[in-house]
Amino acid sequence: MDRSHITSWLTDMDGVLVRENHALPGAAELLEQWRREDAPYLVLTNNSIFTARDLSARLRASGLVVPEERIWTSALATADFLARQSPGASAFVVGEAGITTALHEAGFIMTESDPEYVVVGETRNYSFEAITKAIRLILGGSRFIATNPDATGPSQDGVLPATGAITALITKATGRHPYVVGKPNPMMFRSALNRIGAHSETTAMIGDRMDTDVIAGIEAGLHTILVLTGISDDSEIAKYPFRPSEIISGVHELVRPSSGDVHESGAAGTEDRPADPSVSGSSDGSPEDVPAEEPGAPR
Ligand SMILES: [Mg+2]
Repeated sequence: MDRSHITSWLTDMDGVLVRENHALPGAAELLEQWRREDAPYLVLTNNSIFTARDLSARLRASGLVVPEERIWTSALATADFLARQSPGASAFVVGEAGITTALHEAGFIMTESDPEYVVVGETRNYSFEAITKAIRLILGGSRFIATNPDATGPSQDGVLPATGAITALITKATGRHPYVVGKPNPMMFRSALNRIGAHSETTAMIGDRMDTDVIAGIEAGLHTILVLTGISDDSEIAKYPFRPSEIISGVHELVRPSSGDVHESGAAGTEDRPADPSVSGSSDGSPEDVPAEEPGAPR
């Protein structure tokens, strides 16, 4: 598959770059390649619990260097969308720092009194009172928005109910469905393209799921690359009526031979590489100082 026209990259995080806080083979090298070549890229996740700064630190602990400005969460995409729809509006939020910080930074006012929007993000701490408040506000005319549709998220002990499960509860009580910004809504990819000044014709999306990454990538007009390190396998792929542009076993296939074999003009020299032990050597880029993990890894 020819991808010589690709100059910009969007990539999913969990199942592509990391799995359960361990870097996948080639992930550190691919990120270093993009940095060295000054390629516009963003790392995407539907997880709306964490801020980009939090996620950057968590990736760093897994041995991956991703500056916070290179991370695009469903929370950031939601705040970006709502700020364009209604600048400086008010919102009642059921969620955590990822979405509340994003809305604050986008100029929103948080209120329980007649907000324009009720925004539901992922949370491990939702309360009956907050859900009740959200239901009453939506019945009173507030617009219902969700960061992402995921019904469940992963944890070491088994699945956890995620944003889609919480919004289902509110939908049942109100008869209203949320507008959902995260994958598979291609809105999230379009705002990501805007963020890095990229164009769909010259951008690839790397993902591990047919039902989110690949379909949204196709609908956003991107070159789609499915990696088999995540959930989708061959029998899974065959079930869908659409195909990715290409299928690879993992992101290590996107890493080109380094330094001496690279001929791109203007590529930065290797002497200014940051001192980062994770970038060299082993393909198992997982240092031993990975912090104890709470449920709900980034995905
Ligand atoms: Mg994934």
